[in-house]
Amino acid sequence: MCASANKKFSPPTNRQRAKALGDTNQLNDDIRRAVTVGIHKCFLRFPEPKEGDWVTINEEQGQTVQEFEQTERTVVHSTHKIIYLQPIGSFDHSRTPSLDIICEFYRPFFPGCELEILPQIDFIDFSKHAQAEKRINRYTQQPQYLTSFIINHRKKMRRQRQNNNNQELFCIGVTMADIYPEHNWNFVYGEASIDDGIGIYSFARLDPSFPNTATAGPCTDDERILILKRAVGVFVHEVIHLFNIEHCIYYLCLMNGSETEEEMDGHPLYLCPVCLRKMYSALGKETKHFNTIQMYTAILDLCKIFHFKEESSWYEHRLSLLNAEEDKKL
Ligand SMILES: [Zn+2]
Ligand SMILES: [Zn+2]
Repeated sequence: MCASANKKFSPPTNRQRAKALGDTNQLNDDIRRAVTVGIHKCFLRFPEPKEGDWVTINEEQGQTVQEFEQTERTVVHSTHKIIYLQPIGSFDHSRTPSLDIICEFYRPFFPGCELEILPQIDFIDFSKHAQAEKRINRYTQQPQYLTSFIINHRKKMRRQRQNNNNQELFCIGVTMADIYPEHNWNFVYGEASIDDGIGIYSFARLDPSFPNTATAGPCTDDERILILKRAVGVFVHEVIHLFNIEHCIYYLCLMNGSETEEEMDGHPLYLCPVCLRKMYSALGKETKHFNTIQMYTAILDLCKIFHFKEESSWYEHRLSLLNAEEDKKL
């Protein structure tokens, strides 16, 4: 996405991984088992990176559970948390992933949060200055929009809505248009303003036919599955960032950073023990909504319906280990 000097990166040691997870003795049975049982059977350690991978280009120190818990989080301790999804621009193309299906996947990952899809807006609606923030990418010859412009526009819209609704947790703009964060960047998949709880994410490059999406024929079954899987992965990953959870360097994990779509495809659709515990911390402690077995069962059902074969196998295997452990206790 952005060229810069290579950085030295070594995957964490077992000790560093254990430190990142922290002491699990005080956790309730469900989350404690989820982050301690059968870990070596189900979670692969973060691999030695290849040249051009995210960690060779972007500095990642890792974020332990303790560090995460010490950061000021944008978590609302209310029982009624709403995350708004704002479609920006057209989603009508036949190759576009369905927002409704993406939302179905979203729900089990964020127990206790509601998701509401706002009416679609268009780039042209933003303001008369919108054209100034639009450029044609010199490599793809496709239009691109500046992320900060979209985020600032969302802030204005939120202020107008604030009186009617004070339960908004985050607002996430999604678009099929390509986006860029700064003039010297080629593109970006997404960008978030964590303090404002606002993010903007583009699904444009998730289609293997990009930048010729407009003229590509209908999706094959394999392409449809690939595009949906990438879109679900990007969406869930980016919403998790809004909780102030940083990139994961401990295991292969949904929260690993990706430099390319190929690198993204190598990352799983599940959270490693460290990141799962952070989500529990962010959502589960107060409201008691968080139940890993229920979460995994719901995700497994969706993976089966939408033909995510590898993901189905992983969730099935993980659930069988966790359920066996639960049976032992009974
Ligand atoms: Zn990320
Ligand atoms: Zn992780």
